[in-house]
Amino acid sequence: MSRMMRALALAGAAALMSTAAPAQAQQPQIAATKVEGTDNVYIFRNGNHQAMFVVTKDGVIATDPVAYGRPTGGKSYVDEIRKVTDKPIKYLIYSHHHYDHIAGGKAFKDAGAKIVAHRRARERLAQLNDPATPLPDEVVGDRGRTIKLGGTVLELKYVGLNHSDSTLVMRLPKEKLLFVVDILPVGQVPGRGMIDFYPTESEASIKRIIAMDWDRLIPGHPGPGGRLGTKKDAQDQLTFLQEASTAMQKLAREGKCWEPAEKEFKLSKYESWPGYANNLPFVARRYCGLWGRGT
Ligand SMILES: [Zn+2]
Repeated sequence: MSRMMRALALAGAAALMSTAAPAQAQQPQIAATKVEGTDNVYIFRNGNHQAMFVVTKDGVIATDPVAYGRPTGGKSYVDEIRKVTDKPIKYLIYSHHHYDHIAGGKAFKDAGAKIVAHRRARERLAQLNDPATPLPDEVVGDRGRTIKLGGTVLELKYVGLNHSDSTLVMRLPKEKLLFVVDILPVGQVPGRGMIDFYPTESEASIKRIIAMDWDRLIPGHPGPGGRLGTKKDAQDQLTFLQEASTAMQKLAREGKCWEPAEKEFKLSKYESWPGYANNLPFVARRYCGLWGRGT
């Protein structure tokens, strides 16, 4: 075989291998990982969803069971916490009312945790009464709440309407870490969640989040390569939404919503972001609703 042929054959084999076994497929379904640079902050991941938990000397603060369509997901999460500590699980905080993040809380209640959520999350959950999603035991109002446990301070902040009307942004001031679910996808185009999205208010919410004191952000869905978010990612997401809004406003005022506008709508600057092709139609639909219908 000539050198050229061998090089081509090797390249072909490498291409085949990378198709057959992408890095993503090699990941286990469930994993708990300590956040680098912290003593006691962990990320629990189940498939494409993730949540934060904090282990203190007086007990554990857990968030989001992430068990929608995964009947044993809540139990698996508790089991992962048990591999790290035998301290009691004191709290389970819901980031917002969407089931893909908060179904599966029963295992935590059985373990003795108190479920905490924003007031609006409780109202919505009570209306729908999903069998997999226990109601919160305690609610937080718009002024937020600070949880102190075993030397850890966790702030629960309400920053207004955004991805939902019930989102709590969680901040660990000492670690300068945020746990923010679905408002700020890291380096990605937002998708189906746009159905419950408040376009104008979101921009104000994101500005409030950027103004907080933090260095790293744990998103509710793993970022590209599993990386955490930065303030630049938050600013980039804000710019993306602003540009989407401006582009659709123009089309809507030409009378093109829904179909012609949704077909013409492109934000080619973001083509390299994961989810661009699949998710852009959801972004288009939401902003057509805003600028084409006033909703
Ligand atoms: Zn959501």
